[in-house]
Amino acid sequence: MSKLPPKHIAIVGSGPSGCFVAQSLQRAWKDSEITVFDRFAVPYGLIRYGVAADHQHTKAITRQFDRMFAASPAAPNAVRFAGNIEIGTDITLSELRSHFDLVILASGRWRDRHLSVPGSRLPGVVPSGDIINALNAVPRPSIPLPEIGERVVVVGAGNVAIDMVRFLVKTAEDYSGSDIAPEALKQYLASPASNITVLSRSPIATAKADVAMVKELGKIPGVRFSVANSSPATEDNALGRKREEAFESLTTIEVTEPRAHVHFIFGAEPSKVTGDGRVGQVHLGVAPAGEASVIPADTVISAIGFDVNAPGHLNYAEEYDFGPSEGSGQVEAGGRPEAALYRVGWLKRGPVGAIPANRADSNKVAKEIIAASESGELFANPDHGGFAALPSTLREQAISFAQWQKIDAAETESAETDRIRTKILSHDAMLDIAHGALVE
Ligand SMILES: Cc1cc2nc3c(=O)[nH]c(=O)nc-3n(C[C@H](O)[C@H](O)[C@H](O)COP(=O)(O)OP(=O)(O)OC[C@H]3O[C@@H](n4cnc5c(N)ncnc54)[C@H](O)[C@@H]3O)c2cc1C
Repeated sequence: MSKLPPKHIAIVGSGPSGCFVAQSLQRAWKDSEITVFDRFAVPYGLIRYGVAADHQHTKAITRQFDRMFAASPAAPNAVRFAGNIEIGTDITLSELRSHFDLVILASGRWRDRHLSVPGSRLPGVVPSGDIINALNAVPRPSIPLPEIGERVVVVGAGNVAIDMVRFLVKTAEDYSGSDIAPEALKQYLASPASNITVLSRSPIATAKADVAMVKELGKIPGVRFSVANSSPATEDNALGRKREEAFESLTTIEVTEPRAHVHFIFGAEPSKVTGDGRVGQVHLGVAPAGEASVIPADTVISAIGFDVNAPGHLNYAEEYDFGPSEGSGQVEAGGRPEAALYRVGWLKRGPVGAIPANRADSNKVAKEIIAASESGELFANPDHGGFAALPSTLREQAISFAQWQKIDAAETESAETDRIRTKILSHDAMLDIAHGALVE
């Protein structure tokens, strides 16, 4: 008799990759019970806590995951959400594996790459991640918005650097329809930056920013842009030329009384940061002709990408090899594949690529898993009881999708005028709401 496909499936992490792989397996195996665990009481990982608050069109992808999690008579095999369970802290990975036929790790890998020039530890040098945490109201760790001065140098010119520029130049009105953290925004807008320099090591032709992100900057009123570029794109670099056009058109926007000036310097590298007890100047080791070699600044925001060597969250599975891989999703230990243990998303490929790249990767790994089941390598083990077999304290601790919907409702009901929600900053307060406690 052929073996049945895995019955009890655990996915660790409810970011886009965990949700995409859950979606694929739910479609393939109608009789399987899939549980998606997350350390937070709320789902969706960096869609909620990384993607910029004014990019709700990107966050809207969660609606399809909402449908996947929402049980109803018409959707009896809904995927279970089990928030507020941290693998490695609340339950070890090996115990989890002892209850499930298949475990897929989708716990992400996000840590800022740090600026490493002399002076980069001076007060006033701020990783973009700290700002993103504050604006997105990340509860654990909750980081207050760092102090930002009037003269800011942003190092990096990828999409996160552009997110930073939008934040630095937008007014409160420009956040219509967003869920930006109100206190952090208020703090910043009390004394916003007026002079912003963005440094990119690469010329525009090979810089990382998406053309659409550059064009979006041009829609923000009251900002003057200027650009210096070290070398133009070659004839055959069509994308580079489009990006150049996008930057060029920013410089043609007429602004009579700009409240902020953003100067992009492409082909520039900081060599050191100096200052008397705090950032005072950024020195350029390399710069296009005609650019000053020292830029006065009181804040430096580094947005130079993510640390590819960052471990998956909290080192809950140190014995495994988590080096970035575009190949198989099966986890290896000492070069040998681990039975019934897979990984997807940023934990697999490293911290690169946007949400669509995770969809492709999760679909690929789901196909690999289904093939392993068809070959008899993965199967339903009658000794495994899945979620129902976990200790009762853990099951009670888990926040269900219906409980998340209560948190969601509380957040949307408390939205300020012209905003879609006010995210709750305290994880304990989220738990109180999920458990039905009255919250002031
Ligand atoms: C600042 C920033 C801005 C971005 N903006 C965009 C954008 O505008 N558009 C776009 O397409 N992409 C954007 N991205 C990229 C996108 O967010 C990632 O491609 C995607 O989120 C990676 O998905 P993931 O599921 O692998 O990881 P994550 O989204 O990081 O999800 C991992 C999940 O695992 C959970 N977890 C971690 N450890 C444990 C544990 N031990 N136990 C239980 N749960 C755990 C986490 O809480 C989290 O929910 C951005 C990324 C960042 C960092």
